[in-house]
Amino acid sequence: MDDKEKDRLEREDKNPSSPNGEEEYEKICYVCRRPESKAGPMITMPGNMYLCHDCMQKAFDSVTNGSLDWSKIQNMPYMNLNFSDLKNMNIPENGIPQRQKIKKPSDKKKVDFELKDIPAPHVIKQKLDEYVIGQDQAKKVISVAVYNHYKRVYMAAKGEADGDVRIEKSNILMIGPTGSGKTYLVRTLARLLNVPLAIADATSLTEAGYIGDDIESVISKLLAAAGNDVTKAERGIVFIDEIDKIAKKKNMNTRDVSGESVQQELLKLLEGARVEVPVGSNQKNALTPMETVNTDNILFICGGAFPDLEEIIKERLTKKASIGFDADLKDKYDSDPDILSKVTNADLRIFGMIPEFLGRLPVTVTLQKLTKDLLVKILKEPKNAIVRQYEKLLALDEVKLVFEDDALEWIAEEAMKRDTGARALRAIMEEFMLDIMYEIPKDPDIGSVIITRAYLEKRGGPVIEMRGGLVPLGQES
Ligand code: ADP
Repeated sequence: MDDKEKDRLEREDKNPSSPNGEEEYEKICYVCRRPESKAGPMITMPGNMYLCHDCMQKAFDSVTNGSLDWSKIQNMPYMNLNFSDLKNMNIPENGIPQRQKIKKPSDKKKVDFELKDIPAPHVIKQKLDEYVIGQDQAKKVISVAVYNHYKRVYMAAKGEADGDVRIEKSNILMIGPTGSGKTYLVRTLARLLNVPLAIADATSLTEAGYIGDDIESVISKLLAAAGNDVTKAERGIVFIDEIDKIAKKKNMNTRDVSGESVQQELLKLLEGARVEVPVGSNQKNALTPMETVNTDNILFICGGAFPDLEEIIKERLTKKASIGFDADLKDKYDSDPDILSKVTNADLRIFGMIPEFLGRLPVTVTLQKLTKDLLVKILKEPKNAIVRQYEKLLALDEVKLVFEDDALEWIAEEAMKRDTGARALRAIMEEFMLDIMYEIPKDPDIGSVIITRAYLEKRGGPVIEMRGGLVPLGQES
């Protein structure tokens, strides 16, 4: 640093808001790279180097706890030198900035989308229909909730407040059996809306200070999904799966680290808080730069299978029914496939969710267990259906792939037996498609393959059509 530059820095230090209209600067911590506006007042060191109080404290702590080799720390290549050496060193001018321009908060908030850019609920639903089969009620409820959510984001971004009317957050609780499409629905939604999405598993979250990811790691993930763009992340979607696993445990004597306390910690994120998260890492330490993310406009969707919840609902309904001398209603509820849609907050509280937590998830969506017919549709109808994917793969070899209807039914029946919803479909399909995908490209004369139920039941081969006539597999030569 030459004398001229030093002079300029000193001048600006004394008079940061220079009268000749130059930009204002703020100091940056040499270690964590946080600016003064975030990390607080800086300690000035010789050589125009600044350290924030946190990093200074951490440095003292490390020295007290044992030795610390500063030169091994990536950000600090000059720290093993004497400060007097700095004068004689050729430190790159732009390499280690010590100050940065102060970001002035703009009076008018940035609004980079218009109300008309938010798709109407029927448009969102139509788009979801192209990918997600069945679950009509869930798709409808989600479309409306999402539409309202982004209207709220729009109002907030414009800084508009219509008198006392403040639109509440419409975070969503999604209840449905395994493989019914909860995650898939959220993924599809985020893709259609072109907003970043973070998916976290509630079972991996723990209260700060315990082994596991702390709650704020969810926001770190979202920031990463948004390419570290805070504004984008603040309009994203966070899906927390397996939320039923953090239900309050009954009759617990020990401290409940992963259940109730995690619900408690999630409260602040759900209702909107400013959280400091590390950028590009889920570990907070002195060397990772931090960003502040406001969760106020982030849409939170919590999903879970809630096993035994059906029993709780049935019990409540039959209790009510037996008072009305209508006890045989119990059987009716036993066979009701849509029993989950009758869930109330009281049922969820019995399940173990705390009332404050439920209060912050005002929209409840239930997904139905997929029936055989729906599973068949899932195989062939969505835009990226598994059957279409295989057809496309073989089409590249100029082979036509056909699935007979009863073959698709067999696959759906097998999937029902596994009781993991649509998740089982791909696995079953892959088991028998392996041979086809291996054998077919061997013979360039094969024109089409027909998958029959008999082949799947191992009672015969698939029907192979040569580029001429029909030949069952195994007899083609
Ligand atoms: P969940 O989160 O409810 O356990 P997933 O969303 O992970 O289930 O579903 C697993 C896979 O099954 C998805 O990736 C998707 O391909 C398929 N799937 C599930 N439900 C549906 C559906 N309703 N429509 C289309 N595909 C579905």
